[in-house]
Amino acid sequence: MSEFATGDGVNTKDATLLSVRQLRTWFELRRWGLLKVGDVRAVDGLDFEMRRGEAVAFVGESGCGKSSLARTLLGLYRPTAGSIWIEGEDMAGFDRHQLHLYRRKIGYVQQDPYAALPPFMQVRRILREPLIVHGNRDREDQERKIRAALREVRLEPPETYLTKFPHMLSGGQQQRVVIARALILKPALIIADEPVSMLDASVRVEILNLLRQIQQQRNLTLAFITHDLSTVRYFANRIMVMYAGQIVERAPVDTLLDQPRHPYTQALLEALPDPDPDNAQKIRRLPKGEPPSLVSPPSGCRFHPRCPHAIKGLCEIKPPPEFPIAPEHGAACWLNQPS
Ligand code: SF4
Repeated sequence: MSEFATGDGVNTKDATLLSVRQLRTWFELRRWGLLKVGDVRAVDGLDFEMRRGEAVAFVGESGCGKSSLARTLLGLYRPTAGSIWIEGEDMAGFDRHQLHLYRRKIGYVQQDPYAALPPFMQVRRILREPLIVHGNRDREDQERKIRAALREVRLEPPETYLTKFPHMLSGGQQQRVVIARALILKPALIIADEPVSMLDASVRVEILNLLRQIQQQRNLTLAFITHDLSTVRYFANRIMVMYAGQIVERAPVDTLLDQPRHPYTQALLEALPDPDPDNAQKIRRLPKGEPPSLVSPPSGCRFHPRCPHAIKGLCEIKPPPEFPIAPEHGAACWLNQPS
């Protein structure tokens, strides 16, 4: 069932590509590799949907679980509990063969393009690999698809790049090859995990522009994982803010950036650099304290040890549910409880 009713005439039930229910990805923590001493609750009870053709940003500090979520969606981590429905099938119960077919539906753009590309392979071979792994043995068709993928990421003319090794390319060109590899099987969903954080500032906008253009032209569904709220207005349709393995606020991008209702989202926005030169000296930082341990997260609201608005006797005891605020806008904070 769809999560939201939209006012734009979109039938979200039919438009839903991905539906995640009560998803948990926990990792056992063992002492000396033997005795289990706890679980790292990297992803802890997520519910969300993604519609076809939309870009959703998952935002939060390091260690909030967003990269574990990405790897779980990719099928690299097995969920501990919950379900991931994609195009009507529950991925959590897939066997190895089904998982192999499922991975074809998802393209992955990693954070570090140099580490993501095999250093001993030329670009042609790098782009050919996924085609071979998924059963394409037609050399001519492979070559056609490889050249088309290079053109799509603006590495033109393709013959200039086909025989290059990754170390012969700039960081921006490497990331374009990573994007071409993610696109070559025509996936339904792209997961971009901090796709520009390792690149020079001058190249970041180009790569974000490229991803946005491809997403819009192909009507791709895109999960954009980032710690940087400043890039998402320009890029995403909706934002989900994550803290300690959970979603604490979700909303359409303009709503969330202009009217944040969770103190953690407000703190993330407060910490953004102010473009106004008069405020250049203003110190901007996140609330005191560190993100909590995912082995023993705080009781009640997980943000309560850092929250300037914590309500004594409530927030440290009772976890807040997600309260609806407006269509598609919800925040897991007692301050949003209807009176
Ligand atoms: Fe702060 Fe309480 Fe809201 Fe948590 S529930 S964010 S501690 S006010």
